[in-house]
Amino acid sequence: MPLPLKRFGVPPVILLGTALLGAAVLALTLVPRPPAEVRTLEAVLRRLSRGNNLGTQPIHFMVVSGTYTAQLAAERGFCKPDQCVMFTQLNPYQHYGNGWDELIRQGYALGDIQAWSASSGTVVIPRATFRAYGTHSGYLACTVAHEIAHIRRNHVFQQSHHLYHNLRGQSEEAMTLGDRKRSRELELEADRDAATMLARAGYQGRVCQQDLVFMARSVGDGSITEPDSTHPGTDDRLAAMRAHYDAIEKRPPAAETSTRIRSSYNRSENLLTLTPLPR
Ligand SMILES: [Zn+2]
Repeated sequence: MPLPLKRFGVPPVILLGTALLGAAVLALTLVPRPPAEVRTLEAVLRRLSRGNNLGTQPIHFMVVSGTYTAQLAAERGFCKPDQCVMFTQLNPYQHYGNGWDELIRQGYALGDIQAWSASSGTVVIPRATFRAYGTHSGYLACTVAHEIAHIRRNHVFQQSHHLYHNLRGQSEEAMTLGDRKRSRELELEADRDAATMLARAGYQGRVCQQDLVFMARSVGDGSITEPDSTHPGTDDRLAAMRAHYDAIEKRPPAAETSTRIRSSYNRSENLLTLTPLPR
């Protein structure tokens, strides 16, 4: 005689809980993760926020196609050589479907380490920078910290102020050379800030000095400082960085309160926003 099957019912609460968990897992798998470069950037920013005061203003980061893509666009006649900024800043995670995708692909494969920042608080980094740095996340941190320093110190404003107040009335050539000289000083200041930020964040050794050597070789830049250079030549930049490490090794920088941060990536705007939270 078959034994009657005893059925154990699952309580409704457990059923509901399981369904909710399933929905949450499904939602997580449906929402795509930020691109790999953005995740790398988030990790670098989390580390730099330790031991450093990143201020109270949000800082934005945009991964772009880069200048090599713009160069190719000019060659293809998509833009006049001095009017290709838009091609520098295309979204490398978007498909344009009008011939630009190939320019972006080549820009990624052949472009090199670069970054720049806008006075409005956006750091721009070509996707090729991440490819060129590979696993050298400490070197990437130097480049990111250098750009944050430009923003935090309002270097664009400072340079403009210098031009209109201190160089005013001089000949056009003298103004240009004075402006470039100031630009080189500000570059070295951002370099020093970057090295100091990395030291505060706990990076060991002369990471930013090594970064300058790595970067010069990667981009193939063995230039010297010319009177009209916006950046110091390779050797001068390296010598200044070496001197700064000599100084901070003798007298380590005072610790700052770490910055609590929130980071969020907006896919349609291709913007990673780092928001410092109140202490
Ligand atoms: Zn710079």
